[in-house]
Amino acid sequence: MTRQTTRRRFVPRSTHVALSLAVTLAFAGFFAVASRVGHAAEPEATPATSWKAGVAKVVVTPEKSVWLAGYGSKRPPDGKLHDLWVKVLALEDEKGRRAVMITSDFQGVPKTMSDRVFARLKQKYALERDQVMLTFSHNHCGPRLGDDLVDYYPVEAEQVKLVDEYTAAMVEKLVAVVGESLSRLAPARLGIGAGKATFAVNRRNNPEAKVPELLANGTPLVGPVDHSVPVLTVMGPEGNLVAVLFGYACHPTTLSFTTWCGDYPGFAQLEVEQNHPGATALFVNTCGGDQNPLPRRSVELCERYGHLLATAVEDALKQPLKSISSGLRTAFEYVELPYLQVVTRKELIAAQADQSPIRARWATRMLRKLDAGETFAHSYPYPVHAWRLGKESLVIGLGAETVVDYALRFKREFGPGTWVCGYVDDMISYIPSRRVWEEGGYEGGSNLFEYGRPALRWAGDIEDRIAGTVHKLVKQVQD
Ligand SMILES: [Zn+2]
Repeated sequence: MTRQTTRRRFVPRSTHVALSLAVTLAFAGFFAVASRVGHAAEPEATPATSWKAGVAKVVVTPEKSVWLAGYGSKRPPDGKLHDLWVKVLALEDEKGRRAVMITSDFQGVPKTMSDRVFARLKQKYALERDQVMLTFSHNHCGPRLGDDLVDYYPVEAEQVKLVDEYTAAMVEKLVAVVGESLSRLAPARLGIGAGKATFAVNRRNNPEAKVPELLANGTPLVGPVDHSVPVLTVMGPEGNLVAVLFGYACHPTTLSFTTWCGDYPGFAQLEVEQNHPGATALFVNTCGGDQNPLPRRSVELCERYGHLLATAVEDALKQPLKSISSGLRTAFEYVELPYLQVVTRKELIAAQADQSPIRARWATRMLRKLDAGETFAHSYPYPVHAWRLGKESLVIGLGAETVVDYALRFKREFGPGTWVCGYVDDMISYIPSRRVWEEGGYEGGSNLFEYGRPALRWAGDIEDRIAGTVHKLVKQVQD
């Protein structure tokens, strides 16, 4: 989720392009990257494979007028730049142990939706919770889903119905496409590598309006970032690239218009798939909660960022990839994250008259719950995953909008081959590190009401609790 910082009216494409061209030309030096299209290198010293992999994908572009998600405003769609996708990479080791990575162009998947998917996957394919990560890129040109950010948008009965219908259809599609990926499990070789892309900017530390000037002057931007582009490749027996999963830590908020597309990850995946006919490119957002693609707000910049990311993937593929040895281990646990203070009836009554329509809608809805006899939970179950692939790769999956500190910390603590996915299973809210919590502000301060939680802030030990569970699960999959 990101606050709308630009005018909300629709700007015609030609204006977008003209404006963006000026901005882009001004920073041509900064962005200068040679277009290099190559074929994936074979993982070095590839042993006889013990892995199986299966890939499937499905178009999920809404056919009806479901609003676009992520900015707190009414955004009916006006067409599409390219389709939205759900993609699945299923893996199976030599002992038949399975893990399923689902990626999507969704802005935010709520727990009420993902729990339905997990229940169906267990019933239909005997997949347990630890075996499935349901990730979303956090694309702000994707559709609303279920009760995600329910108070964030002005309510309209017809829209509620459309979103409910679309969400139900997505549950079915997700289950079906996972089934398809499992049916395609076939011998494969896995490799890992990494590239680099530098367009993500720490948005807490660099005022958006000043970024163009800072870049033009060559002034270094400040604040933690994670510019690495981790890459996992799946090669068929003939050495053909079957799939490439890649990640980047940055909000897909280049665009704020009302045309369906996957924002920069959408463009990056298209380019990688064009470079490698027959291969499927999948994207995960790796802890980009406090990172923005800056400057932004034009299709041209969005395409450029997609190209920079695709180029980073191609660079990684040209290097010798590290082959992943046999053996899959998966672990999952919820860790309870306490709120600093649960909101009271008195506070909600006062908030009903708040100037912020989001806060007023939230207060009214929460009061209705209290009136119906509901009591508010004092904590929220936060999903944490750890997968070990061979000896070479550790994939950590964290729910919601994790700030970049989490990725930097766990990569430092667990070493090379560690991959930290944010935006897994449940949108929940921003997840600040201790540093960001102490600093406050948008990602660390009193904003939980925007996500519909019965509180304003997380308790200050949020990072300790998450890190404690991550370490526990990593130990489980490493033992
Ligand atoms: Zn966000």
